[in-house]
Amino acid sequence: MTKRKMKGDQTMMERVAIYPGSFDPLTYGHIDIVERALEIFDRVILAIAHDAEKKPLFTVQERVEMANLIFKDTPKVIVDSFKGLLVNYVEKTNARVILRGLRATSDFEYEFHMASMNRSLSVHLDTLFMMTSKDYFFVSSRTIKEVAKLGGTVEGLV
Ligand code: ADP
Repeated sequence: MTKRKMKGDQTMMERVAIYPGSFDPLTYGHIDIVERALEIFDRVILAIAHDAEKKPLFTVQERVEMANLIFKDTPKVIVDSFKGLLVNYVEKTNARVILRGLRATSDFEYEFHMASMNRSLSVHLDTLFMMTSKDYFFVSSRTIKEVAKLGGTVEGLV
């Protein structure tokens, strides 16, 4: 939480969540998670990871530009990018919650390990999981790229 000065010297705690990921590209599944998180948090930082190992289709700069365009009318969303350990980045921002989305049980094992590792690296941090919506449970950046490459339509998903 971050302290925010309010009018008349009132101080309010701002609830900030970091939503980290590759977002290569950002899908409606991701957007849905951000929109639902804004019901709980005052601010969501969408943090795009520099991860060369994943061989992304879009550069980090392109992904940041796309996300800024998508959230241009949503000032509560801040788009950023980070290199290295997520916990180091989060600690610089004052957010104490990492937000992640969960689709099928296949996401669970990886997410469980990452959340446990992040918690052991920084005891101040918690990971909050939000279940995918029924409309987007099958949407992933990877399958979107595969379908688009083979000429299929990805309208309404990305
Ligand atoms: P990463 O490479 O870190 O997994 P992604 O961009 O693939 O990054 O995903 C970021 C987060 O969004 C992950 O927690 C992932 O499970 C979640 N996510 C991806 N697609 C969806 C979706 N359709 N519905 C809900 N959560 C999703």
